Amino acid sequence: MESAGTSSRDQVVAVVGGGLVGALNACFFARRGFQVKVFESREDIRNAEIVRGRSINLALSHRGRQALSRVGMEEKIVSKGIPMHARMIHSLSGKQSPIPYGKKGQYILSVDRANLNKALLTEAESYPNAKINFDHKLEDWSTDTGLMTFLRPDGSKESLKADLIVGCDGAFSTLRKQFLRLSRFNYSQTYIPHGYLELTMPPMAGEFAMKPNFLHIWPRNTFMMIALPNLDKTFTCTLFMPFDEFEKITSGDQVIDFFQTYFPDAIPLIGVDALKRDYFRLPAQAMVSVKCSPYHINKCVLMGDAAHAVVPFYGQGMNAGFEDCIVFDEIMDQCNEDFSAVLPEYTRVRVPDDHTIADLAMYNYVEMRAHVNSKWFRFRKNLDNILHFLLPKTIVTFTRIRYHEALQRWHWQNKVINRGLLVCAAGTVLGGSYLLINKTPKISSIPMEKIWDRLLLLKVWQ
Ligand code: FAD
Repeated sequence: MESAGTSSRDQVVAVVGGGLVGALNACFFARRGFQVKVFESREDIRNAEIVRGRSINLALSHRGRQALSRVGMEEKIVSKGIPMHARMIHSLSGKQSPIPYGKKGQYILSVDRANLNKALLTEAESYPNAKINFDHKLEDWSTDTGLMTFLRPDGSKESLKADLIVGCDGAFSTLRKQFLRLSRFNYSQTYIPHGYLELTMPPMAGEFAMKPNFLHIWPRNTFMMIALPNLDKTFTCTLFMPFDEFEKITSGDQVIDFFQTYFPDAIPLIGVDALKRDYFRLPAQAMVSVKCSPYHINKCVLMGDAAHAVVPFYGQGMNAGFEDCIVFDEIMDQCNEDFSAVLPEYTRVRVPDDHTIADLAMYNYVEMRAHVNSKWFRFRKNLDNILHFLLPKTIVTFTRIRYHEALQRWHWQNKVINRGLLVCAAGTVLGGSYLLINKTPKISSIPMEKIWDRLLLLKVWQ
């Protein structure tokens, strides 16, 4: 492989989408010496006054960090992130209880989306063989000729062919639409009934209003609010709620009543006036889960949300997209950069893993809303942490073990824990009944019923 940025190879790689995954991918391809052309529909966000997009901040974890480190960006990004060592659960009464993510010392990072995107664009542009074309919206791509057509803000159009097209144009990918027209392309998308809305919790007396090194969660069964810290000592709070509940709230007073009922401790921290105002600033945003296969046709490959938009409840969407770049890069080495071999191999390797993280994220959607409320979940979580050294569930967040293998291990771990608990419960029942029968024969029938009820509950939970 040639050294970074010194090659003058002729092959053109067109990266469509200059978001998080597109900008990072541009660095990966530029390092290999391809002529990289990025096409981004938005203006250059480094000059924009308002950066529109998805969440304001994101949780960066091991997979994402590994990808950044491959292009020499890890330290730069990590130094601007805020470590979150645990989840902090806020009960209705305002009590706060931490639930660690993994082993001591392990943490995820809260990073600013816009800053991360800007840093990646600047890094991509530092390669002489990479060029970013802003205000270029992909309008059409012919699967027959390979010709891409871009629309400019003044209405003019530009066309281009490339040796490889990398589709990083997000959850509503224009490139992917062309895949849908071909046979044997599998596709599914699911909108969850929840939307999300972001609110800002300002600093208090110049300091964070809550403990900064946590991902704060207010689980309220069908509603949930989370808050991630920012470098300016604010928190970005994200309220997840079914759309029909969002629609029921139509006035500032109703917002306060709602928060008084479900998130009372957050009211003084966000502020009554800010809550009344900011709740209506933007409409709640939808969340979609997209699965498809294969990830390639002809000379085009999909990566990031264009290939697999996942609901944000495992904090893995961007991390998985960043890991896509590493996996593709590794396969490029294995297949000597022969695209005709690399693309099918990439689909073969990556589809099962990305589909698994989509499923896990959907599972966590339920877990975060409901289970973290229950004593049973907290008990199980502690057990999980104890077993971490043997069979870690947190391998999704803190390792690069393939997602589908992580799922297999996790299923196995759950089976072991549940069976272990069942055996303990059965042992307790048998031991207890033995004592009751032998020591206090008159009352032995009453507790037995209750104990069997408990056992049945355990079984149902499995
Ligand atoms: P995008 O970020 O959507 O970028 C796509 C780019 O393509 C954009 O710049 C867009 O302008 C451009 N584009 C679109 N169409 C065209 C076109 N026709 N022509 C040219 N350009 C085009 N992930 C995590 O890992 N951790 C988290 O904590 C996390 N939190 C999240 C919270 C929320 C509320 C949401 C919604 C998502 C969260 N995610 C998180 C997921 C993460 O945001 C996405 O996985 C990530 O943004 C995907 O990056 P991407 O580059 O593939 O797509």
